[in-house]
Parts: sequence; structure tokens; C-alpha cells
Amino acid sequence: MDNVQETILEIDLKALKHNFKHLKSRLHNNTKFLAVVKAFAYGSDAAEVAKYLEQLNIDYFAVAYTYEGVALRDAGITTPILVLHPQPVSFDDIIKRCLEPSIYSQRVLDLFIASAEIHKQHNYPVHLKFNTGLNRLGFGQKDIPKIAEALSKTEAIKVTSLFSHLAESEVLDDTDFTKSQIESFTKIYKDVYATLSYKPFLHICNTSGIINYPEAHFDMVRSGIGLNGYGNDPEVNKHLKPIAALKTNISQIHHIKKGKSLGYNRAFIAQEDTRTATLPLGHADGIKRQYGNKKGFVTINNQKAFILGNVCMDMIMVDVTNIKCKEGDQAIIFDDKHTAEDLAGQVNSISYELLTAVSQRVKRVIRR
Ligand SMILES: *Cc1c(COP(=O)(O)O)cnc(C)c1O
Repeated sequence: MDNVQETILEIDLKALKHNFKHLKSRLHNNTKFLAVVKAFAYGSDAAEVAKYLEQLNIDYFAVAYTYEGVALRDAGITTPILVLHPQPVSFDDIIKRCLEPSIYSQRVLDLFIASAEIHKQHNYPVHLKFNTGLNRLGFGQKDIPKIAEALSKTEAIKVTSLFSHLAESEVLDDTDFTKSQIESFTKIYKDVYATLSYKPFLHICNTSGIINYPEAHFDMVRSGIGLNGYGNDPEVNKHLKPIAALKTNISQIHHIKKGKSLGYNRAFIAQEDTRTATLPLGHADGIKRQYGNKKGFVTINNQKAFILGNVCMDMIMVDVTNIKCKEGDQAIIFDDKHTAEDLAGQVNSISYELLTAVSQRVKRVIRR
């Protein structure tokens, strides 16, 4: 085993390619693929992931906030970038860096048209977001006449796509809600088409939508977690490979005598003589306090070593009483076999949360 020398997050680009190819194999040839690379590409490395996907001819990227799109442009990305949740304060940057805003309300529409006019734009690409049941962001069907009126008064912007977002595309024992969202979206786009002289393209599916609702792929799909190797379903996971592996090595071994305590607030009291390994990562690296007190575990020498006591800012201590190991040996927090989904499940969390929590303090190492 090649031991790591410090805490690192390895990103496996071959696994990324595998996931991309697999998800693409579920689409029609002419369905576009958008890679969601918000939040540092789910905690990995947005610039590296985007550069690699650009080489594989990805059609679109999406980020949540403007500065994430600016970072991709700074990294040399030229593919279109949809900004899912832009704030009006960043509209100048959006236009300067050729980013494409999601427009989700009349207020945002009016403000963006004003910005585009100030910047003397013509047919600046925007994407209209419709709410079909998530009730988070988006226009309603009733807003269409006002949207049409605003659009008819300006040449500064042009609607590139219409989209919506599914609330529970991974929930298979009740597909009615998702089907009703798809139906609402269909009514909405027909209404919008009736008001425009051109047809913006359509998209609604996230990763689980791609897998569970092939009839709703429309013109493009948007995948984030799937590209990262998680399919929100054990069957789907078999076809995907987690791209990120969080690894570290043992700083020190301690022997805690029966009755002695360990760590802050003495949260662990040894019921018997206990051997512990101290690891150089803590809640400031993304291992939240909920993982303490034997909820979370790492893998050392192929065995589970549970976290003892409270998670510290920069360290955790794990139980290696029955594990053969020494200082300097490797510990895996998650990888393609000991998955982030399994570890997150220990605290009723999900892969998304654990992956995106890995803080920028952790060195990213790209494996090609
Ligand atoms: C985050 C996000 C996605 C990606 O969802 P996954 O489940 O990670 O594939 C797609 N669309 C929107 C609007 C999002 O916010």
C-alpha cells in the first residue's frame, strides 16, 4: 500500500470519465449534458474537473454562484456556464465573464434586463427557471404573460433555455409527484413557446432524474453527484465509481488505561485498556462533530476504526485496539470502496454533504 504523507483528497479523473460515459450512455445521442460543478465540483476541484470534462466535449457547466463561474473562466474554461442562483449584485461580473444567469423571478428579470441594457448587450443568453413543486426558486406558470411582456420590450437578452428542478427524483416508491412536476413543466414550456418566436431548449433532470425518468430528459440533463460517482441507489452505484478519496496517516498511537479519558470534555472514558490513533484532520477539514463518539469511522488496514470522543478542530482519535497498525500508517476516511455515502449514513447525512464539507485546507491531488 502506498502510504500518504498527509491528509489529501485524491481526485481520480479516470473514474470521472467512466461516470460521464456511463451517464451519457443512458441518453439519446442528441441530448446535451450539463455538468454541475458548484461547490468546488462537489468538494473535489472544480477547475480540474471542468478542464477534464471540457476535453471530453461536455456541452454545459453549471455553478450556483457567480464567483464560482468566474473561477472557471479564470481557469480557462470556455464552455457555456449556467449560474443557477446569481445575485443581482454580481450581474456586472456575469456579463463581463460571459456567464449565463438563471432568471427565476420578475425582480431578477427586470434587474438583469437593466444590466444587459447598460452593458449594451444584444440577445444575451439567459435561462428561465420555473418552479414545478420544489418551491425553492422559480417563476410560476401564471408569470408567463408578464415575462413575455418584459421580453418583448428588450433586445438585450434572449432566452436560451427553460428549466425546472425535481424534488424527489431518487424516491422510487412514489413517482406521482415527480410525474406531476414533469407534467407542469410540459404545460409551462408550451405556454412559453406560444409567446415567443423561437424555442428555448428544455431541461429538468438531475442525476436521479436521468436514471429514473428517461422520458423527461428533454434537450439536456444536469448531473452533479452522478459524475462524482454516486447514484443515490445501490443498483446505480454499481455502475459508477466515486472519484474522491479522503486519506490521511496516523500521527501518533496512544495507550489509554482503563478509567482514563480522551480528548476534549473527556467525552471518552476507557472502559478497558484502549489503543488509539490520532489522525491529522478534524471538523475544520469537514469531519463534523456529529461523527464523534463512535458514530463515524475510518478504515485502517481494512478494518473499521471508530472515532472516540469529540472531533477536534484539527484532529480525530480513533480506536485501534484490535487493529494492527503503527504511526505513519494510512487511514482512509472514504474512497471508492469505503464510500462517503456509507460514512455519511452513520449520522443520517448524505454523500453530497460529506463530499462538499471537505474544506479547502485539505490538499487536492489529481490522479490522471
Ligand atoms: C445541484 C443541482 C443539480 C445537480 O443535482 P445532482 O443530484 O447532484 O445531479 C441539478 N440541477 C440543479 C438546479 C441543482 O441545483
